[in-house]
Amino acid sequence: MATTSRCYRCGDRYEDPARVRCTCGEPVWFETDTAAFSWDGCRDYDGMWRYEPLLPIDRPKGIARAAGGTPLVRSEGLDAVAGCQVYVKDEGEHPTGSYKDRGSAVAVPHAVAASGGAVGTVSYGNMAMSTAAHAAGLDRECVVLVPDEIPSVRLELIDQYDPTIVRVDGDYGALYDDALELSTELPISILVSDAPSRISGYKTALFEICEAFAPDVPDAIVLPTSSGGFASGIWRGIRDLEAAGSLDEPPRLYLVQTDTSDPLTRAFDAGVADPAPLTDDEIGETIAHSIGNPDPPSGGRALAAVRDTGGSVVSVSDDDIRAAQRQFAVDGGFCVEPASATSLAGATRLSERGAIGSDDDVVLVPTGTGFKELGTGDASIATERANRAALPERLASLLTDT
Ligand SMILES: *Cc1c(COP(=O)(O)O)cnc(C)c1O
Ligand SMILES: [Zn+2]
Repeated sequence: MATTSRCYRCGDRYEDPARVRCTCGEPVWFETDTAAFSWDGCRDYDGMWRYEPLLPIDRPKGIARAAGGTPLVRSEGLDAVAGCQVYVKDEGEHPTGSYKDRGSAVAVPHAVAASGGAVGTVSYGNMAMSTAAHAAGLDRECVVLVPDEIPSVRLELIDQYDPTIVRVDGDYGALYDDALELSTELPISILVSDAPSRISGYKTALFEICEAFAPDVPDAIVLPTSSGGFASGIWRGIRDLEAAGSLDEPPRLYLVQTDTSDPLTRAFDAGVADPAPLTDDEIGETIAHSIGNPDPPSGGRALAAVRDTGGSVVSVSDDDIRAAQRQFAVDGGFCVEPASATSLAGATRLSERGAIGSDDDVVLVPTGTGFKELGTGDASIATERANRAALPERLASLLTDT
């Protein structure tokens, strides 16, 4: 099990595997021994455990084995709207429907092996489901801290794995810091969005993309971003492959935020290293529930990743997101959640700006399935009607080619 973590910014090292942040304030990540790595030497395992030699734990049993190995699909139908050669890395095809499973598949077994207590998380969305599922898979107690006013459909999704759900009254955003403290005081490992073990799991998405393209490399990756955890994992993956001599020119990393809460876009545009937390009146409502952290704990690292790879950060509106969600389905066949649709909306914006070109190979990463987000009761959907006896005639009149 990996024990040495390091700060990307100041280089300080730590030997405590549960450590999340450096004394300088930035998040730490696990060091990787890349010396012996090559694509040919990957394990003959399904999914992300192919890259076991670069992960901090050995392949666990159970549901964790189902993480990773998501399809990378060339999607010509989306080229016109995105303005580039589109590839879709469909992260919604995970056991709990989002890329979070890559992180939980490492973080939960890692925490279980390191200590005897419960595992937990602060989330009422994909992170909550994913953590609870992986804890259930290892028969370990799980505590999920949710906001008091959580919608019942979300409770139902989380509750199916039978964690202890605690509704917390008060400043939910401030729970990130509380979680780090509670984990040292109580017999529980609260696995936050940027726990080093999660970041190790996230990097396997980058490995899968790069291995699929090898010996070529995609020009760009477009990623919805909130806390900056996934972006950090992608960057960690790039750095691992560079250190292993398996990647010369990294793909440019583009991050997309919702314009109702976009501290990273603001910081990028202002040319500063760290995002400033947004105040309550700077934050708006959005349909992209899975993104919009006003104070992203891995924000500085995500910005460093963008600058290191020559990418940028863009924001998109809810209207852009609705349109992109529909285009994903109609022009690509993908059912993605609104947060994930920002990858397409962001690509459109980037090609309008000239940041990506029509010949660029661009990987869009829809981070989560749309299945959980549907069922809004919208009755305005256009349908046709027909009597069974008259169906052949009715159908003939509807088919364009008859
Ligand atoms: C968590 C999540 C994100 C944001 O990831 P961060 O690591 O917080 O930046 C984006 N999309 C979906 C579907 C998510 O669940
Ligand atoms: Zn540091």
